[in-house]
Amino acid sequence: MKAITVQPKKPGSAAYEDVPEPDPGDGSLLVEAVATGVCGTDTEIVEGKYGWAPPGRDRLVLGHESLGRVVDPGPARAFKEGDLVVGIVRRPDPVPCPNCAVGEWDMCRNGEYTERGIKQIAGFMSDRWRVEPEYAIRLDPALGIRGVLLEPATVVAKAWEQVSIVGQRAFWEPQRVLVTGAGPIGLLAALLGRQRGLSVHVLDVVTAGPKPGLVEDLGATYHCGKIADVGFEPDVIVECTGVGQVIVDSFKHVAAGGVVCLTGIGSGGRTTGLPVADVGSKMVLQNNVVVGSVNANKRHWYKAAQDLLRADRAWLSRLISRREKPWNFEEALRRSPQDDVKVVIEFAEA
Ligand SMILES: [Zn+2]
Repeated sequence: MKAITVQPKKPGSAAYEDVPEPDPGDGSLLVEAVATGVCGTDTEIVEGKYGWAPPGRDRLVLGHESLGRVVDPGPARAFKEGDLVVGIVRRPDPVPCPNCAVGEWDMCRNGEYTERGIKQIAGFMSDRWRVEPEYAIRLDPALGIRGVLLEPATVVAKAWEQVSIVGQRAFWEPQRVLVTGAGPIGLLAALLGRQRGLSVHVLDVVTAGPKPGLVEDLGATYHCGKIADVGFEPDVIVECTGVGQVIVDSFKHVAAGGVVCLTGIGSGGRTTGLPVADVGSKMVLQNNVVVGSVNANKRHWYKAAQDLLRADRAWLSRLISRREKPWNFEEALRRSPQDDVKVVIEFAEA
């Protein structure tokens, strides 16, 4: 079969090549790939900045945002041939740490977890893949190709859960939410905010392309510019850019008692006008909380699948802004900040 593979930490090593059939050790469910989403992590792995091959191997099958159709359910009675499934990305560390021991592998304490397509386990960008039945999420067939959005949706399902848990330390009736960044994570965070009945505002830097319309069609408000200019102090800020200045501005402008949830991964970058003690004083005097959130556990996968099923199907379809064939994976990795939302690699008809 064919797969998109990479030699981690070696820039330019990605290839669409012949590989052996999936290892039965990867799980008893045999799945035919339908689509995989492409995200910034895939780009970083291909650029040689990130990623680990399985032990004893040189190359890693790329891809962690999956969608596939069961070809052979094996002994798993909960699945049947033709079921639409998505594979969970992370596996608990082998020690395990206390959080992994109770199934909260998203909160792993020792960093020895593994991740499909990222860290030491084959990913999903291959014609066929295997998965353990307990790490497969069955989707309603009505979702079709939109099921490929499940993995990014789990990230925001966890982020919203974290915001809610933190908020409930006091009397908590949030009204207005600001999401920074209108990429797939930001737009799905906005969707979940609307599903909670909140007034949602989304801030990005682009003025054209599909993003402003996608925000408006959620019943949310699109802003272009700085947080200081949105005209209100948000009760919740879901930060999805990872840009230093945007992070600092979110600390400065969140409302009294408000929660900032950081989901973006950035690095470096200069910020201007950051008097740290002043920002700290503001956060003390206004009881603010900053919470980082990454990855997702099985509860979030389950909840995110329900959230996607409740969403408007036509709107979800518009998040998939481009489809590429596996042999054109390099095109899929080149994303336009204005015109692309979620680019997917299509292996078979949904
Ligand atoms: Zn752990």
